[in-house]
Amino acid sequence: MSSWFEASYSPGTRLSLRITRWLCTRRSPYQTIDIFDTDDFGRVLALDGVINVTERDEFIYHEMLTHVPLFVHPRPGRVLVIGGGDGGTVREVLKHPCVEKVLLVEIDREVVAASREYLPALSCALGDPRVDIRYEDAVRFIARPDQAFDIIIIDSTDPAGPGAGLFTADFYRNCRAALAPGGILTAQSESPFFDAATVGQIYAAAGRVFGRPRMYTAFVPSYVSGVWSFLFCADHCNPAADFQSERYQACAAAFRYYSDAMHAAAFALPPWIKHQCAV
Ligand code: SAM
Repeated sequence: MSSWFEASYSPGTRLSLRITRWLCTRRSPYQTIDIFDTDDFGRVLALDGVINVTERDEFIYHEMLTHVPLFVHPRPGRVLVIGGGDGGTVREVLKHPCVEKVLLVEIDREVVAASREYLPALSCALGDPRVDIRYEDAVRFIARPDQAFDIIIIDSTDPAGPGAGLFTADFYRNCRAALAPGGILTAQSESPFFDAATVGQIYAAAGRVFGRPRMYTAFVPSYVSGVWSFLFCADHCNPAADFQSERYQACAAAFRYYSDAMHAAAFALPPWIKHQCAV
């Protein structure tokens, strides 16, 4: 008898993955953590029933969330990752030799522990000496940061759970204050197809703080509808044009989805996304 994991996209749409092996269920003070193996997506991490990461396509999400800002900034030395307890974003950040320090602020130590145990391909860089981990609500951390960052990456769960406070104008305002001059913020910003209203609210909130928030997209097969959006905020740069080509050429072989061409193309939005999400 086979069992299936059902991810709900909307009240009327679900994605089902056949489970080949159940590995763990943990209930932390913040969420339920499930990890299991599947036929087509490999190992999956779900939080409160929502697919957060699959081994098969996580590289797409993590490369696009990370390398877009890191290849726009001329010299990113200090990087703050908010959420991201599976370690995939930190792994990608450390592919940049110019990065001196990465601070991961994750609310749930159980996500990090489970990822270290069951998702070594993602969590492999969390022990790097350049990485510090703080277990704290990032809303509280960013209200009184003890340092400035060149890049802030918000690798959060959906606005429904403990991540709710990470999508507000107040939060973006505190992030902006924590950026060093020339700093850049990126964030995962939900599905334009199934969550257009939420996406519109995210860009409106960011727009109250940063002059002109930009959206870019990537195709992540396991995420709601496949098309995923990312928020890009910076005071003075053109993310599609200000590209650090020399630094990219030096490590291009390390990426499977991200490239110079994908970087530029990701900022081209189809009209339905612009209209539906008011970006
Ligand atoms: N790629 C994923 C996605 O969008 O489906 C996100 C992955 S990562 C596992 C999300 C992390 O954000 C979770 O580990 C969760 O505990 C963390 N998180 C949620 N709210 C947070 C908060 N307020 N402060 C810090 N971390 C938070």
